[in-house]
Amino acid sequence: MKYLVNENCIGCGACAGICPDVFELGGDGYAHVVADPQSDTVRETAAEAMASCPTSAIEEA
Ligand code: SF4
Repeated sequence: MKYLVNENCIGCGACAGICPDVFELGGDGYAHVVADPQSDTVRETAAEAMASCPTSAIEEA
């Protein structure tokens, strides 16, 4: 599974807090995908981050 962050991101930081291996808050104040999940553990936390996004800004790419 690959992810992308769309324009709905409000920079709350939840995704980066839940799954920092995949999501990072950038200097622009919005989340970015820094890597694709490479393990089952990271796949699970990335899916959790996607489900936790308050603005549905995380999409499957
Ligand atoms: S959880 Fe959603 S709104 Fe919050 S930083 Fe991540 S992508 Fe943006």
